[in-house]
Amino acid sequence: MIQKKVCMLGAYAVGKTSLVQRFVKDVFSDTYQTTVGVKITKKTIAVGGEDLSLLLWDLHGDDEFQTVHASYLRGASGALLVADGTRASTLERALELQRRLRAAAGEVPVQWILNKNDLEDDWVVNDERLLELELEPAVVLRTSAKTGDRVEDAFQALARRMREG
Ligand code: GDP
Ligand code: MG
Repeated sequence: MIQKKVCMLGAYAVGKTSLVQRFVKDVFSDTYQTTVGVKITKKTIAVGGEDLSLLLWDLHGDDEFQTVHASYLRGASGALLVADGTRASTLERALELQRRLRAAAGEVPVQWILNKNDLEDDWVVNDERLLELELEPAVVLRTSAKTGDRVEDAFQALARRMREG
């Protein structure tokens, strides 16, 4: 079976671990789980009638400015770039991580995610902000790990592009 390494990339507390848990186990936890190191979770999905195993690399750490080492990124077939729709600064962090991914793994497919879509009252990121950062609003999926909204879609969309590429 084909296996693909996928890196979860984004600032601290944007919901990377929660998205993996929602996608893989269909659960959501309101408590923080901060561990050190890398957690790799495997999930097999069907893409275009064929099975594809995603190895989801999730970096654990409690520092927003933690170093994402090249060894974490190297060999990635794709990445989820996750920002938090309630914290505008998380977009810049994801952009920086995208640059590092490009340097370490090349032009692999990425899927942009604005997570915490359920927190409508606290939402601060709009299309204008995305365009200022040269992000095409149409390619940024708005997800909620809490409700599960669009989470499956995000991983599926990335998997489809990794298969094509
Ligand atoms: P990580 O540091 O990027 O792995 O973030 P976590 O997955 O640990 O999530 C950080 C915090 O945000 C936790 O308290 C989660 O319960 C919460 N969280 C994650 N995703 C969502 C979401 O879609 N909606 C809401 N309301 N909270 C979320
Ligand atoms: Mg985490």
